Amino acid sequence: MIVSTASGQPTGLSSSRDLSADPVLEVQEASKCYDGVPALQQVSLTIAAGRTAALIGPSGCGKSTLLRLMNGLLLPDSGTIYFMGDAVTRNNASVLRRHMGYVIQEGGLFPHRTAHGNISLMASFLGWPRRRLEQRVAELAELTRFPTAALDRYPAQLSGGQCQRVALMRALMLDPQVLLLDEPLGALDPMIRYELQTDLKIIFQTLRKTVVLVTHDLAEAGHFADNVVLLQNGRIEQQGPMGLLIEAPATPFVEQFVNAQRSLAGRLSP
Ligand code: ADP
Ligand code: MG
Repeated sequence: MIVSTASGQPTGLSSSRDLSADPVLEVQEASKCYDGVPALQQVSLTIAAGRTAALIGPSGCGKSTLLRLMNGLLLPDSGTIYFMGDAVTRNNASVLRRHMGYVIQEGGLFPHRTAHGNISLMASFLGWPRRRLEQRVAELAELTRFPTAALDRYPAQLSGGQCQRVALMRALMLDPQVLLLDEPLGALDPMIRYELQTDLKIIFQTLRKTVVLVTHDLAEAGHFADNVVLLQNGRIEQQGPMGLLIEAPATPFVEQFVNAQRSLAGRLSP
């Protein structure tokens, strides 16, 4: 079972063996229904340490549900989710979640708390000393290129891009092994989106986190991910490097999905 040490790390991490090849997250034949209607069916997926996976697919295909299963906010009806080798259960989910930073769809910032208040909420709850907490917030503001003067503003006083940077800082505050990002760039205008795509990639590489990112944009999935997982109607249609989905689509749906997104870009060619 995963337990936290004083340093906030799961005990599994204190082992001296090289963990880089081990899966950090493993989804084994997970299925989930809402009110008897299947949202995910027999989904299996492995994510190795330090890798980035992109979950992609049309609205309603089960991306957010899969992310919530990974961090134990939902439990599967059947199948098992493993984090660092341990099955995620009702009992360990809340402890385990501290090791997985999560940016929910639409950012999910608390409107009545400042940026600083949002970022530091969990660390305050865990009783971090003031100095450590302020040091960490300053470090994250620098990493995410967020102006420190804006830390005292409320979400309504920040731009969309700044709100997403705050949501990212909040997810990174406890220095989690894993980052789960649900359409972190979905609502942004194209210029800001491009800027954040570039910054995020640098952040992932610098921190060497294991990342699972939801998007419905194929180019974005290719930009970030080693492994692209394409879902449709709660099932995985195909997973692999972007090149494989393009060159060797496993099903007619994959081909359709890839072509639809490519032809949009193609229309811009002179
Ligand atoms: P995506 O993130 O890919 O858009 P979701 O995982 O949010 O898809 O949803 C998958 C399916 O499950 C959809 O049909 C959605 O309507 C349904 N669903 C999601 N959350 C709930 C819920 N809390 N109650 C009932 N149905 C839900
Ligand atoms: Mg979603």
